[in-house]
This record gives sequence, C-alpha cells and structure tokens, in this order.
Amino acid sequence: MILDETLRAQLMPYMDLLENPIILKVDADLESENGKKIVEFTDELASLSEMISKETAKLNRKTAFSIEREGVSGVLFSGLPLGHELNSLVLALVQVSGRPPRIEQELVERIQAIQNPLHFETYVSLTCHNCPDVVQALNTMSILNPNISHTMIEGGMFQEEVEAKGIMAVPTVFKNGEEFHNGRASLEELLEKITGPESSEAFFDKDPYDVLVVGGGPAGASAAIYAARKGIRTGLIAERFGGQPLETLGIENLIGTPYVEGVQLGRQLEEHVKKYPVDLMNLQKAVKLEKKDLIEVSLENGALLKSKSVIISTGARWRDLGIPGEQEFKTKGVAYCPHCDGPLFAGKDVAVIGGGNSGIEAAIDLAGLVRHVTVLEFLPELKADKILQEKLATLNNVTVLTNVETKEILGDDKVRGLNYQVRGSKETVHLELAGVFVLIGLVPNTQWLEGTIDLSARGEILTDKVGATNLPGVFAAGDCTDSVYKQIIISMGTGATASLGAFDYLIRN
Ligand SMILES: Cc1cc2nc3c(=O)[nH]c(=O)nc-3n(C[C@H](O)[C@H](O)[C@H](O)COP(=O)(O)OP(=O)(O)OC[C@H]3O[C@@H](n4cnc5c(N)ncnc54)[C@H](O)[C@@H]3O)c2cc1C
Repeated sequence: MILDETLRAQLMPYMDLLENPIILKVDADLESENGKKIVEFTDELASLSEMISKETAKLNRKTAFSIEREGVSGVLFSGLPLGHELNSLVLALVQVSGRPPRIEQELVERIQAIQNPLHFETYVSLTCHNCPDVVQALNTMSILNPNISHTMIEGGMFQEEVEAKGIMAVPTVFKNGEEFHNGRASLEELLEKITGPESSEAFFDKDPYDVLVVGGGPAGASAAIYAARKGIRTGLIAERFGGQPLETLGIENLIGTPYVEGVQLGRQLEEHVKKYPVDLMNLQKAVKLEKKDLIEVSLENGALLKSKSVIISTGARWRDLGIPGEQEFKTKGVAYCPHCDGPLFAGKDVAVIGGGNSGIEAAIDLAGLVRHVTVLEFLPELKADKILQEKLATLNNVTVLTNVETKEILGDDKVRGLNYQVRGSKETVHLELAGVFVLIGLVPNTQWLEGTIDLSARGEILTDKVGATNLPGVFAAGDCTDSVYKQIIISMGTGATASLGAFDYLIRN
C-alpha cells in the first residue's frame, strides 16, 4: 500500500473540496516496477472519493498519470507526488475539479493572456522543499490556460533520464524542450520569466511614502506592519518577498509557533502584510539610495521612489567561494541546498565546503544519501556545535579536512572534482567528485549602499538602539545590520524597532 493510513488521513479532508468529478488517466506498464507503483497509487487515490474516477489512456509520457476534468486542461505527474509534493497533488486535484486557485485576479488574467503553446517539464526530488512552489505554479498555469501544459517528473524514479539530461539541481524546468529555469521561484517570478517584466510605468507617478521599507523578509514584513498600523503611508519593495525563510525547511524557534515550514512562514508574512494598506512591490530590486529633500530609492527597472523615511531590511545571501569553476558549474554540480539536490548525488562522492553548523548539518544529511562526503574547512578546526561534530564523527563515509583552502572546481559539462591546498603548503591535491556543496555562511545585501551609509568591515549597516543609521531618516533592521545574532525573531524585533524609530523621526521632523 502506497497511501498508508497517515497519508490517507492527510488527503481525506481535501476530498470534500472537490467541486466536480475528475478523471485520473493512467499510462503505465504493469511489467515495470515503476509502472506498477503508478497503477497502485492511482487506484488508491481513486478509492478516496466518488468524485475521482480512473481510466487507462495514451498520454504524452509513459509511467505517468494525468488529472483531468471535462473541458479543463489538466496536469501530468510522472512519478509519485509524495513527500514535499503531496501538497502539489492536493492542489492539482482541487483546482482541476473547479476550485479557483488562491491567486490575485490580475495574475489570473496575465496567465490567461498567454497565447503561444508552452509545454513545461519540471524535474523534482521528493525531499526538495524548493520544488513544490514551482510545480504548483506551473500546474496552476496549465489549469488556467489550455495553451499551457505541465508535467512533474520525479527524478528518483527516472534516474537515467536525469543523468542523460545532465540535471544536477532541482527543480529544473524545461520549456518546450529547452532548459528554462533552475531553483525556487514563485508563480509571479515564473510568469515574469515567461512574459517579460511588468511595465515600470506604474511606478513613475507614485506619491512619496512616509515610510518605504526595502526588503521583504521577516524584518521588512515586521517594519511594514508596524508602520502601516500607525496609519502612515507605507511602501515595501522586495526583490523576493519572504526572504531567507523560503530557503529553510522547518523553523522551530519562532517563539509561540512550535513548528512552521519556511515557505509557509513566507506566505504568512505576505498575508499579514496584505491585511494593511501597504503598497507591496514584489520582484523589485533597489539599486541606489540618495538623501535629497526626501530620500530617493532607485529601482533596477528605472523607477524612482521617494519617501520621508526608509527602513533597509535587505537581509543576507549565501556567500560564494569566489574561486574558478564555482559560477560555471552552478546547477551542474555546485550546489547550496543539500535537502533539494542531495538525492541527485546518490551513490556518488561529494564535498561540503564549510565546517560551521550549516556545513556539518549538510554533511550529516548527505552522508545518508551519497557514497562519500569530504568536508573541507579553511580554519584549523570545525566551527559547528559540538553535538553536530559528535554526530559527524559516528559516520564512516565522511572525511574531514581542516586547515585547507579550496582553490578550484573542475569539470567538463558537469563537476568532476576540485583542487585544494593545505594552508601554508604549495602542493595542490585533487579530489574526484560529482558534487560540491558550498556552505560558508552569509554575506549582507548591502553592496548597493557602499559609499552612502556607514557599513562595518563585513558590510553590515551600522545602527543605533532604535535602528537609525548615520543618514537622518534612514533606518535598518535584520540580517543586513551589525546585530550580533541573525535569527527570524530578532529580525522581526529589529524591524519593529526600526519602524517605531522611523515613526518617532517623522513626528519630530
Ligand atoms: C538555511 C537557513 C536556515 C535558517 N534557519 C533559521 C531558523 O530555524 N530559525 C531562525 O530564527 N532563523 C533561521 N535562519 C536565519 C533567518 O532566516 C534570518 O535571520 C532572517 O530571515 C533574516 O531576516 P531579514 O528580514 O533580515 O532578511 P532576509 O530574510 O534575508 O530578507 C531579505 C529581503 O530583502 C530582499 N532584498 C535583498 N536585496 C534587495 C534589494 N536590493 N532590493 C529589494 N529587496 C532586496 C530579499 O529579496 C528579501 O525579501 C536560517 C537561515 C537560513 C539561510
């Protein structure tokens, strides 16, 4: 039985949401193990509700099943949408049955306006927490527009196909047979990639704000909510609303919320901000800040926004190694997400660069999936918590190299190895590897402020007790500042502080 009691219990409540009968069309070969799994899975799925029927059919792809409804273009799953993809299955069932997706009408109209035929294929792993957003977005597009079709392909079931296509990171999306996108993306981001950016005209005649928040992570969301609750005109620009929580699997230390998935927290932040009259401008990047009569923030799309005060909460991103081969082999063996991409390296040798908490957590995770893990740490000792180091020491397929400097990542169409040197020696050592996971910490997103605002030697914005920077009217919060600890709850707290600080500034000026 594939749908065990727990899975059935998770799925059953959604069966009441089915609005019209739907059909599972199955194209699977009973001679193959995978074909049998598809048949068994769809039999069990159909048994959950009288609204679901099942038939065999010739589909575009074998070892697959589609979810269809009369008159509605459906979606295709090649493999079993379990693990992190269970929600994708639920949403597909419910949306194909006729329940409208929970997206803004403006997005629905943009999707329905697409006229050229587009066929998407998304390769996923079931442990990838970045994959479902992409699968769900493309499924929704294919349900809303008959010119669009989408197939989710479970990489674990089609290892040879994954190898042949050179896929080394998930999600990887193909559009009409050509590689189109790698990594996490929201529906808006994918739509922008398909149709081109929205016109920037809408940005040109915006009235000045009282508070303009730059950054849409926990700090920015908190700052915007605090400002809007004061009844002042608030805007928020985010390159990608949600911030780092979107990269996080589960969060267990947000006090009052014992557990929340990172992606879910991102959605909750957005929902919370949208409860207030905040002018939310997602997928917009600030590139310059200038203090004139008002504070002016230039966007990458050419628009200029003005505000009486600004709160910068642009957070941080993964630090790059900055060595030859790193950029060239991104998504071709150089990876940053062990949960997502680890399964693609099953049975192979990989390296983890970085001996801090995130590096050692990654090494422990990967050791259960791959043949061998080599950890390379620049410092003479690992920096990870003792408990993680002790766990690592119990694993017999991990080698730890300390005091070493990774010099180059090598390969042809994908990673084949790396070169490192023991620090202080000139001798280069070569390791043959299929993957290199880079986990060497974070760097603040403040390069666009260099020369404008006082930054620490590490590029962090210097702030005082109320989040004020050296530039009057400009405040900062969260991971982009010199706050000692970088955590969600701290970012939310400093976001609130900066917002109250900005309000106080507005009253006094
Ligand atoms: C893998 C991982 C796991 C973690 N786990 C936990 C955990 O369990 N618990 C915990 O408390 N913390 C955890 N953290 C840390 C936590 O996520 C951060 O401390 C927190 O997200 C910081 O919030 P922030 O709003 O300051 O910045 P971010 O979350 O980094 O958000 C920054 C925002 O600014 C936007 N932005 C950046 N540059 C620009 C620009 N130029 N213009 C416009 N917008 C811009 C980004 O798109 C984003 O919206 C984790 C971090 C990672 C990476």
